[in-house]
Amino acid sequence: MGSWHILGAGSLGSLWATRLAQAGLPVQLILRNRSRLEAYRQAGGLTLIEPHQQQLFPIPAQTPEERAPIQRLLVACKAYDAAPAVAQVAHRLLPGAEVLLLQNGLGSQDEVAASLPQARCIFASSTEGAFLQADFQVVYAGRGHTWLGDAAGGPAPAWLEQLSQAQIAHDWSLNILSRLWRKLAINCAINPLTVLHDCRNGGLNDHADEVASLCEELQRLLLHCKQPEAAHNLQDEVQRVIRATANNFSSMYQDVRQGRRTEVAYLLGYACRQADALHVPVPQLQQVHERILTLLQSRGLPSH
Ligand code: NAP
Repeated sequence: MGSWHILGAGSLGSLWATRLAQAGLPVQLILRNRSRLEAYRQAGGLTLIEPHQQQLFPIPAQTPEERAPIQRLLVACKAYDAAPAVAQVAHRLLPGAEVLLLQNGLGSQDEVAASLPQARCIFASSTEGAFLQADFQVVYAGRGHTWLGDAAGGPAPAWLEQLSQAQIAHDWSLNILSRLWRKLAINCAINPLTVLHDCRNGGLNDHADEVASLCEELQRLLLHCKQPEAAHNLQDEVQRVIRATANNFSSMYQDVRQGRRTEVAYLLGYACRQADALHVPVPQLQQVHERILTLLQSRGLPSH
């Protein structure tokens, strides 16, 4: 069925690559440039670190300039890098190629899909947890689940079987946009507030009114975006997530803390742009967005 080409050997890309390789499936990594490829060769491959074991996978790697055609591409970059990274390999995609998009939030998937009319774009929403302990060394921090789906419809691809072989827990979703919207809304109600209040997720219990009014606005926005399933009982779920992850620092909190660029433009920024476009009043959301952008600017971090 051909190789899996994985664009971006960060946390999730490395997690997918090592599990596919472990199952004996052909994988090729596509790294940013020659110097990253050189660093990868020095490392000897990708290392997957799990609680009781650690294993090195000498998976072949290449740069975008390689010529070999691509039938199936897993895009494992951050949302803001996805479209420019895909543009570097677009000429290598075969007609009817499949492109899996692992990005959090919304907006980047449409950017990529619009640039690739010849490909089938499959969107994913994942609750897996992974982080890099060092370059090319991925820690599998929390087993999760991945939903995949095609916003344009069509049948489930035959290679889902390969994901089962690779023990990548997944389901084919008939409404992937609803899943992505739901996750985006939960993120918008929690992550920015943890940054503004400088707290763990559980710290938001002290700001319950603020969380509740964001949920109300997000629910209204979701209904205007024709996402009733994503809107259903949003506030209850946000509270459940806050309870279940009370001890965690949100991903946005960690990005800001470590001086890394955030994906805010594809989360809260996307929600605010949709609200504007549909003339849905969301004053609390807009205010939180502005406060986050100001904070990012004050830390010298990009706001887009
Ligand atoms: P990450 O660790 O930062 O990895 C992104 C990788 O993309 C980096 O290795 C980066 O390369 C690479 N990249 C960027 N531009 C590239 C290009 N032009 N060519 C080749 N490689 C390029 O990010 P992540 O945590 O895996 O997250 C990826 C996406 O998955 C995000 O949208 C995130 O929100 C989502 N997600 C992550 C998790 C998780 O547990 N990590 C869970 C669910 C969802 P360099 O190393 O050279 O910069």
